[in-house]
Amino acid sequence: MSKRILLAGFYHETHTFLEGTTGLSEFQITRDQELIDRRGDASPMGGFLDAAEKFGWTVLPTVDYRAMPGAIVEDEVIERFWVEFKKRAETYFRKGIDAIYLVLHGAMVSQSLMDVEGEILSRLRSELPETAELPLFAVYDLHANFTQAMASSSNCLVAYRENPHTDARESAMRAVTLLSRCFTQNVMPKMIWAKVPIVWPPTGVATANVPMSLLEKSAREIEEENENVWVVNVNAGYSFADTPDTGVSFSMAITAPELEGQLKPELSNSESEDWERCVRMKLIQLCDLAMAWKHQGNVVDPPIDEVISGLDHKAPGLTVIVEPSDNIGGGAPGDGTGILRAFVKLGFQNAAVAINDPETVKTLERLTPGERMRLPIGGKGSPVDPGPLELEVELVSRSDGRFELENKKSHLASMTGSVFHMGPTAVVRHAGVTILLTSYRTAPFDLGQWRSQGIDPENFSFIGVKAAVAHRAAYDPISARSYWVDTPGPCTSNLKSLPFKHILHPVFPLDD
Ligand SMILES: [Zn+2]
Repeated sequence: MSKRILLAGFYHETHTFLEGTTGLSEFQITRDQELIDRRGDASPMGGFLDAAEKFGWTVLPTVDYRAMPGAIVEDEVIERFWVEFKKRAETYFRKGIDAIYLVLHGAMVSQSLMDVEGEILSRLRSELPETAELPLFAVYDLHANFTQAMASSSNCLVAYRENPHTDARESAMRAVTLLSRCFTQNVMPKMIWAKVPIVWPPTGVATANVPMSLLEKSAREIEEENENVWVVNVNAGYSFADTPDTGVSFSMAITAPELEGQLKPELSNSESEDWERCVRMKLIQLCDLAMAWKHQGNVVDPPIDEVISGLDHKAPGLTVIVEPSDNIGGGAPGDGTGILRAFVKLGFQNAAVAINDPETVKTLERLTPGERMRLPIGGKGSPVDPGPLELEVELVSRSDGRFELENKKSHLASMTGSVFHMGPTAVVRHAGVTILLTSYRTAPFDLGQWRSQGIDPENFSFIGVKAAVAHRAAYDPISARSYWVDTPGPCTSNLKSLPFKHILHPVFPLDD
């Protein structure tokens, strides 16, 4: 008979150093049949659906809640998700379920819960007693801050192996293949894990570079050597979610060898413990490897003052100043004043930066182009920014902020389609600095942002870009050089500058 798999998704990467909250209205919610309709898409959900179809399983869809990376999730979202999920799950339980499969992130934090995924997995077991004997599988993002609750409430959680995440869909399919093994061999894996006292910034956890490349390689070797190790996950962690579980960890789904197929008598407790001790040693080896390479994972950009004071103002072509700490694509507010302050303080000429500041755009509605006004600019979205920078500016132009993307295959296009709305937009000038003010956060991945305002960005000598990596497709072709700098912002790679409260100490690099 066809296996019946209960499906749900709950996905948010929570940045706890941002002001405000992520509410229900920011979540894209898919329910019931709509979820099945995502078959074929490039997401992990699509990967699960396609693989489940291949195995001939019947998918029992419930709900999927997902939102872009952002501030702490409101409690209401968690409770609404749970009520919607539980109601549907109970209905399906009456007709029988063979397994549960979830699509998760692993670094979600709500107003009351530091470990949302652990809570949801635990509730599944405690509030839906029918699940006690059922395999609970999930796919999740390698930026997860893995927890004990996640390990003890599930059977097999499978992380992505690539960062950037080119393998999210494929990882979901890998988890499906493991679930089918659970059925065919009639065995139930369990999760074990180990945490290492390291927190790495996102800039240090690309899988093409050490230390992640080495850790992933070792993880694959452990999987290959041990048939009873079903999966080894390298959890890079998400440093901007401040919780007691934040940091690097390793998790494994394992079965005891003699339990395979349940043909042999069960292991005695002590034999089972010996086997588990043996695989735990493998986790410890991964922890040791991470410790040995901890410095290489702490990729910190130099302070802006250090870089910017040494720049050659006569060098031909455009110089791009990249500011990962205010990376809009990573959830940052895009209103950090670090670059603007430096340009103004050092009297930069022919320089530009875009800043998201709906309040200031609104105030500028009173002006006609050519008029001047003193205004507080930016610095409102993050407590680590020194705050708004007050400047006398001249209004250059205003628009509705809509623009057609120049590159329809860009990262931005994958998020929004071919037209982007910056919201009401104004261009102002202060001395030698042009400031593009938007009303909606606009990741700087398409030059249409500037050209739609009648400005050709390649004619500037300096431009500040609030991104880490994904801006390069747009800016590399028009620039002569780029410098990465650290400014006070919520996505800073300098983790020591963030006001951590909940992370466990000692932890590298916060404690030397
Ligand atoms: Zn991620």
